[in-house]
Amino acid sequence: MAEDDFNEVFQELSCIPADPPKKREQCHRCRRPLTVCWCPFLPSEPLQINSTIVILQHPGEEKRCLRTAPMLEYSLPKANFLLLKGRRFSSSNNERLKHIFASPNTLLCYPGPRAVSLETLPIAKETGDGYNIIILDGTWPQAKSLYANCAELKKVKQVQINSKMASEYVIRTQPTETALSTVETAAEALSILEGNPTLKEVLLQPLKALCGFQLAHGALTHQSKEFLIKNGLHKSQMNFYIPQKEYLV
Ligand SMILES: [Zn+2]
Repeated sequence: MAEDDFNEVFQELSCIPADPPKKREQCHRCRRPLTVCWCPFLPSEPLQINSTIVILQHPGEEKRCLRTAPMLEYSLPKANFLLLKGRRFSSSNNERLKHIFASPNTLLCYPGPRAVSLETLPIAKETGDGYNIIILDGTWPQAKSLYANCAELKKVKQVQINSKMASEYVIRTQPTETALSTVETAAEALSILEGNPTLKEVLLQPLKALCGFQLAHGALTHQSKEFLIKNGLHKSQMNFYIPQKEYLV
């Protein structure tokens, strides 16, 4: 995606009130309006995995109406999910991060020339404690800024998803056809690294439900900006992992 498009997304984002007025009754868990609550589509029990998903979230991400990190949080055991918020991450003030950055089994999902394909790595149970899979959560410029502001991240083994999987989101709301949301990135990485494709199916159920709501509301063919913003579905309210390395500056 061109830099101009990112600027446009930022401009649109700046027009959205940080604290939109409460319009309807919300689900206490996913904080979505009850009509589009995806909680019934979560797995009944947390999924058993060897690896840990580590989300480093830009503070701007938390303000968005549509965040996909909670779909992971409620699908994985507490011990296998860590979400940290901030603009600059350092192991000096976080013991768990110190352990994660020091582990040879820590991976950063971030595209680039030195990123290796996930498929080339041994599966998690062969690594002992499994992998720590770091995902930078935010818009692409926010993810780039998190990466630029953390010297320790640059020492972590960089991985990328070479999947041709198109995002579950309807095409028109995506910045690019191959951009993946945070939950999709984690689902794809876990299915490969845990050697269990079922994980992807289960983890993507809430997202698929969300897309179903979107289609049911006629969003595919009549998606006005107002409708999308009101429902937290506008592209400026979403975060994407963009697998292609040409987007790196
Ligand atoms: Zn809910």
